[in-house]
Amino acid sequence: MIPLLSLSDVAKTFASGTHALGPVSFDVAEGEFLSLVGPSGCGKSTALRVIAGLLSPDSGEVNWPGGKPEIGFVFQEPTLMPWLSALENAHLPLDLEGMPRAEANKRAKDELGRVGLIGFENAYPRELSGGMKMRVSIARALAAEPKLLLMDEPFAALDEMTRQELDDDLIRLWRNESGGAREKMTIVFVTHSVAEATYLSTRAIVMSPRPGRIVADIALSREPRSDIGYRFAPQFSADANKITQALWKAERDVP
Ligand code: ADP
Ligand code: MG
Repeated sequence: MIPLLSLSDVAKTFASGTHALGPVSFDVAEGEFLSLVGPSGCGKSTALRVIAGLLSPDSGEVNWPGGKPEIGFVFQEPTLMPWLSALENAHLPLDLEGMPRAEANKRAKDELGRVGLIGFENAYPRELSGGMKMRVSIARALAAEPKLLLMDEPFAALDEMTRQELDDDLIRLWRNESGGAREKMTIVFVTHSVAEATYLSTRAIVMSPRPGRIVADIALSREPRSDIGYRFAPQFSADANKITQALWKAERDVP
């Protein structure tokens, strides 16, 4: 099958001399939920920014065999404008693109609904909890109808229960359970949480400490399953153990 995107021998050294990443090579298939797992500072954010085109690699390349699609980016911080309402924040990028106001409004409103924020359209960020702010940030990314969603530790600053709720909601969004005609999204999700990667993804790429290289590429058996029960399923532990073992092996193999 033709991949959605393909990284070949991508490496990045910053001007400071820090060799942050690679070389790494991997393909991402359409419709996948891929997690990049690795210790802090191993180049996960760098890899995501290279994929998004926000940063150019100093060797290797990113290829898009079917053409570069619309990309959404969700950062660890919700980065909302404090003086704009949830709705205004969610359609801001569409306004900047020059989309007619009525359409931008409608899209943003629909997405706030899909992320569970009906009734909060006019609330300001200071009136929202951390989890709700992150929901606005996700709605803002989805309003552009991305085919590829890149997420950089989006739930890392949230408390554990809120994080698990958002994990479940993200799976529903990825499965497109709210219906609609949109295409199925591909998600590349950065996390250093083994449990989160295991729970969310169809595949995990495990990275070594900096400069990040791929130490394992693990197909996960997350489907079919029920969301709540899966955290207690033997298969969940088995998959999590595979990721943990790969992380430990990479730590020990560092010279
Ligand atoms: P991760 O997301 O896995 O924690 P990053 O990709 O953010 O790691 O960073 C990898 C390494 O590159 C770190 O050592 C970090 O300090 C360094 N780094 C990241 N961005 C820059 C930059 N713009 N300039 C210099 N060094 C950077
Ligand atoms: Mg990072």
